[in-house]
Amino acid sequence: MLKIIVLGGGPIGVEFAVRAVEKGHQVTLYEKGEIGASMSRWGHIELFSNWTLNVSEWGAKKIGFEPTQEYPTAQEFLDQYLSPLAASLGDIVQTHSEVIGVTREGAIKMQHVGSRSKTGAFRVLIRKDGREFIDHADFLVDASGVYENPANLGIGGLPVINEAQFEDKIQRYEVNAKTDEARYSGKRTLVVGGGFSAITSIIELLKFKKERPSTQISWLVLTPHPYTVIADDSLPERKANCILGNALLSGEKDGVSPFIGFGVSAFAPSDDGAIRVTLENDEESIEIVVDEVVSNVGYRPDLNLLRELQVHLCYAFEGPMNLSASLLSQDSGADCLAQVSPGLETLKSPENDLFILGAKSYGRNSNFLLRLGFEQIETVLDSIK
Ligand SMILES: Cc1cc2nc3c(=O)[nH]c(=O)nc-3n(C[C@H](O)[C@H](O)[C@H](O)COP(=O)(O)OP(=O)(O)OC[C@H]3O[C@@H](n4cnc5c(N)ncnc54)[C@H](O)[C@@H]3O)c2cc1C
Repeated sequence: MLKIIVLGGGPIGVEFAVRAVEKGHQVTLYEKGEIGASMSRWGHIELFSNWTLNVSEWGAKKIGFEPTQEYPTAQEFLDQYLSPLAASLGDIVQTHSEVIGVTREGAIKMQHVGSRSKTGAFRVLIRKDGREFIDHADFLVDASGVYENPANLGIGGLPVINEAQFEDKIQRYEVNAKTDEARYSGKRTLVVGGGFSAITSIIELLKFKKERPSTQISWLVLTPHPYTVIADDSLPERKANCILGNALLSGEKDGVSPFIGFGVSAFAPSDDGAIRVTLENDEESIEIVVDEVVSNVGYRPDLNLLRELQVHLCYAFEGPMNLSASLLSQDSGADCLAQVSPGLETLKSPENDLFILGAKSYGRNSNFLLRLGFEQIETVLDSIK
């Protein structure tokens, strides 16, 4: 039996804790907010994978949950599955407990290179209710995700000049038509990004435009057709969104003002209290004035948490090196559902008994799926003797 600490109470942290307890380990899970805090930020969005792909066999069995072929919203997933599953763990789950950092007893980062098993237990610093304390573990799982760390909005991933001054006008998550009406309806909004979060925000903003035609939507993307349409896509809604995104950007469909190939370089106050945004490409620099900015440019893992440990991360994607390399070499095309899980060796790092799992294991690669996380959990727990 090992003493295991799990960082993060999202789906992968909770599922890991359930399975590890079932296998006889002593587990504590620390979550900085409520269970599923990151998912609740996008609670209004429907998952593109159905219930059968979103729950583990062991989790469903533990709480008697019967998955169907329906597609839950993230909030339904939390209410009907993840929260009851976490509750079934009792005191093992410690919410409102933020992990500040992790190191090893008896060794600093630069010691025992190549033989970290000679070090002592993991030493974990936690903050709860304004109080800080240390916990120890033989085995550590970092499932703290990426969604709490939005990427910078500026050119090449830098902050935009004066970005910090305009934080109250920047939304870094997907727009929600049910809750964000006062913020966006009848206003001028710039959406930045060409991924699924951006098209989700655009669809929500178009609902406001339909009700109030004075709503203006500008959309900045790097390439003219950012969405790859899969001819026989098993997910019809994904296909429809990709077609819509490309049609809006090419002008085949009205609704948005596209800015293709531009980056955002600076913000400044405008005379009417809004934001003057400077957009740049290789040839020109232009200015537009907007009331709000939606930054849907991706998320990054928090590298500080494990900074005092020996973790080998990919210099491009910032996930565990071997996993990132394996993902780069997989040819699953545009369909993240076609991915395969690359196995234990790709999850290992020089720091013995430490595993980064879940969305954080993919680093800046946004193709992670819950199903792959369940495979990671089984692989890692099977490797513990
Ligand atoms: C909009 C969107 C739609 C998606 N749709 C699907 C889908 O349909 N199907 C699918 O399979 N996948 C989907 N994914 C991908 C993925 O499954 C989810 O991102 C999932 O939430 C990842 O789970 P996780 O447990 O790894 O991370 P998270 O859900 O991000 O959980 C991490 C947890 O760690 C906590 N945490 C962070 N830092 C600390 C700290 N220092 N101390 C303590 N706790 C901390 C956070 O509060 C959070 O609760 C989607 C992702 C997004 C963003």
